[in-house]
Amino acid sequence: MAASMHTVFIGLGSNLDDPVAQLQQAWATLKAAPWCREAKISSLYRSVAVGPPQPDYINAVAQVTTDLAPLDLLDALQAIELNQGRQRLIHWGPRTLDLDILLIDQEIIQHERLQVPHPYLTERNFVLIPLAELAPELRLPDGRNIGDLAAQIGNEGLTRLA
Ligand code: AMP
Repeated sequence: MAASMHTVFIGLGSNLDDPVAQLQQAWATLKAAPWCREAKISSLYRSVAVGPPQPDYINAVAQVTTDLAPLDLLDALQAIELNQGRQRLIHWGPRTLDLDILLIDQEIIQHERLQVPHPYLTERNFVLIPLAELAPELRLPDGRNIGDLAAQIGNEGLTRLA
């Protein structure tokens, strides 16, 4: 039986070891993955870091179609993070690559390893604004519209890169 396809939005972030190159490498890896179809990515953005003092982040959001089950997708993304040298030293501290599952179709997942929609999705302009660039008509499972949320959050600390 064919597995069903899911539309997934993935947040990418980096603030160490040439963050633009980290995102470009992660995007190349994602696009080439055997489980990934119809991939597209937003512009890159620079954002002032949340949490302890640390370098600015480079952020983007990717949209992919995949037949991977949610936890298998999480495993695949964590393997990409590890491959790019991510070290988990400080909570919310600097990292070479962070890949977050933002949305999977209209699913709501409450698992010890995976919460979808991502819990901070609606609180972070560096997620909402690139997400709205890709999919302004998108709605969260609770019905809220991504374009509206992005328009409301403002762009403090956020710069779109040319
Ligand atoms: P962080 O260090 O902020 O990247 O958090 C990584 C941890 O968050 C991992 O252990 C994941 O199991 C967990 N996690 C929970 N929900 C998500 C999600 N939607 N996307 C990615 N990681 C998640």
